Amino acid sequence: MNILDKRDISSLTRLTGEASNVTIIVHMHPDGDAVGSGIAMLAYLISTGKDAALILPDRCPASLSFLTDGRYRDNVIVYGDHPEKAADRILSCDLIICQDFNSFARAGEAGEKIAESKAVKVLIDHHLDPDRSCFDLCFSETEVSSTAELLYNILMSLPEIGHDARKLPLDTATALMTGMTTDTNNFANSVFPGTLTMASELLAAGVDRDMILENTFNSYKESRIHLMGYLLDRCIRITPDGVAYMILKKTAIRKFSVQDGDTEGFVNIPLCAGNVKMSIFLKEDGDRFRVSIRSKKGISANRIAKEFFNGGGHELASGGKLMIPDDVKNAGEAAAYIEKVTHIFMNR
Ligand code: 5GP
Ligand code: MN
Repeated sequence: MNILDKRDISSLTRLTGEASNVTIIVHMHPDGDAVGSGIAMLAYLISTGKDAALILPDRCPASLSFLTDGRYRDNVIVYGDHPEKAADRILSCDLIICQDFNSFARAGEAGEKIAESKAVKVLIDHHLDPDRSCFDLCFSETEVSSTAELLYNILMSLPEIGHDARKLPLDTATALMTGMTTDTNNFANSVFPGTLTMASELLAAGVDRDMILENTFNSYKESRIHLMGYLLDRCIRITPDGVAYMILKKTAIRKFSVQDGDTEGFVNIPLCAGNVKMSIFLKEDGDRFRVSIRSKKGISANRIAKEFFNGGGHELASGGKLMIPDDVKNAGEAAAYIEKVTHIFMNR
């Protein structure tokens, strides 16, 4: 990643020093990087004696509860469960730190309250095209694996840490390693030289990587295996343009008792075929299909997400949504839509 600007680090030190209460917020449907970087910052601020809280727009998957349910439980507020308490915190704090998202809209209702809040606003994020004008201070860097990696570099640059990872609270170190590990899909994607340096230094500082892997990748319910089999056997289509797609309908969600997080990683599977250049996974969720897109080098998941799926993200990993019934009425229409737009996109 590019070298951090010393003035930005000084500004962050001054802003956190001046603030008597700080609120950290991450994106909707929080993943390992959102929760990991969020808890990492929370644990760090609490270790310095700050009044700090982390707001998750909605609940995180059970696989991440080892980060949220421990000693920070009382400092984590799920907006969807306690909207008044969360909104009050956002509106009354002095400093808001937005992590792992690039525009307020990605935080849902919490985002509307951030826009209303008079607090000073800081961004720490690794997505393309951040809304810089909404923030007083921006740490935006795309040449990193994750927000966790960017935050790692920021914390290491603070005078009290002095580039010595052993001075980070162990909870911060563990949460940072979790965010980086899940966003790289366990070192498969977006790994930069600095990513491995960070991993090495955090391991040396005492992080238990086996525990992280056990929780994040190896603690699913057995039904995930059966769901995976069903999707790969019954639902997958691969178009002549090299686009694989799977649509998970609400009937199957009920049949396999799918919960948030259970489908994590499924979108990556079809990319193991040499002829598949892009993979799209749709999951029916109330009034929409949630869309996950992954692509191989040279094909922009971000561009197709922005142009055809009301979303965005990273160059090779993006997401979005198709609204029901405005964009498509049902899974059949969603399939036809994917075939149509991917054919246009892949043949430009
Ligand atoms: P996932 O497929 O894991 O849900 O998301 C992959 C990436 O796309 C993440 O970096 C995420 O932030 C981004 N993303 C997911 N959904 C949306 C969305 O609705 N809008 C935008 N702008 N980005 C999204
Ligand atoms: Mn991320």
